[in-house]
Amino acid sequence: MQKLFLRFLGQTSPLPMSIEIERAEGIYMYSPDGKRYIDLISGVSVSNVGHSNPKVIEAVTAQAQKYMHLMVYGEMIQSPQIDIAKKIAGYLPSGIDSVYLVCSGSEAIEGALKLAKRHTHRMELISCTNAYHGSTHGALSIMGSETYKNAYRPLLPNVKQIKFNSIESLKEITTATAAVVIEPVQGEAGFVVADKEWLTSLRNRCDEVGALLIFDEIQTGFGRTGNMFALQTLGVTPDIICMAKAMGGGMPIGGFAARSEVMSKLTYNPILGHITTFGGHPVSAAAGVAAMQYMEDNKLIEQVNEKSELFRSRLKGCEGVKEIRHLGLMIAIDFHNQEFRDNVVKGSLERGIITEGFLFCDTAMRIAPPLTITKEEIDLCCDIIIEAAQNVKQ
Ligand code: PLP
Repeated sequence: MQKLFLRFLGQTSPLPMSIEIERAEGIYMYSPDGKRYIDLISGVSVSNVGHSNPKVIEAVTAQAQKYMHLMVYGEMIQSPQIDIAKKIAGYLPSGIDSVYLVCSGSEAIEGALKLAKRHTHRMELISCTNAYHGSTHGALSIMGSETYKNAYRPLLPNVKQIKFNSIESLKEITTATAAVVIEPVQGEAGFVVADKEWLTSLRNRCDEVGALLIFDEIQTGFGRTGNMFALQTLGVTPDIICMAKAMGGGMPIGGFAARSEVMSKLTYNPILGHITTFGGHPVSAAAGVAAMQYMEDNKLIEQVNEKSELFRSRLKGCEGVKEIRHLGLMIAIDFHNQEFRDNVVKGSLERGIITEGFLFCDTAMRIAPPLTITKEEIDLCCDIIIEAAQNVKQ
């Protein structure tokens, strides 16, 4: 299977994890030879309600039996789409109640950038250094790393980066700016949390110059930071919120939300401001509603901070740890050097834990487990990571 995997699938890197998985359940993945892995990164912030959550499977099955794809997004009235949009709007700041459903995080970013241009009649887009917003051309244009985007130039013009958490750099936002896009917790930078003071100043600066503020909640959304969205945790209201990843409980779906008056700009002059065949796929939408309902019924979000504290209190004394950054169950364990970090990730994998590093941070290890993880499982994971660190030969 490994040979076929390498032969027939386009590869993202020369070093894929290359582990075959036969089935997954809760926080666990199982290979055909019976080896059990603990998914400590939730398939990169997707499986917040655990793998193959029974309530999600039930919703997927029920919806697939009624109908799957009917029509391109936006034409027909499909109840799962209405249900998910209404449920999400219930968690968003008052007035932000129009959700445009798409297929992925990158597509949510594309839609949000286009909407900001249409709403402001401006072209300039601002993002942050070390930002990751996706891999399509628009999303790539606002990525905060020259290494990953240089090979694809020319990209979108009128894009600039400001320094994350720098009040000084806010003066770069001017009346020419259509939108500023930020991640409330910079994912690929190694879980760097936005300062509340900076966010408030950023909000004020955008208001001053008439630019829209876009939160990329693609990784922070759906309970990860201790609230349904990080904007609630951090207390700042953006104009557009992008979401995806955990939105479908393991099924592919994304969205961007705004006030109806803003969102309507995609509807007229010209019409069809964003077209997406599979956007808001009814099976994914039904899965997403079930996932949110599961979070509510099982009070998963209420447990996020306690579980996060448990990880951090156990791992702060772990060999080689320099710093731990976090917001809820987005935890970056930063080690003294890259080699040590790589060896802890490798040693953890050998002992059955799947974790990884970050694109723009060489020294930190990612911990973002399904929110369903139990305290006993957290203890077990910490034992394994501590043992892996103790066994790194220096
Ligand atoms: N934005 C953030 C913060 C992400 O973490 C990601 C994916 O990792 C994306 C956007 C892109 O999402 P997708 O891979 O679904 O296109």
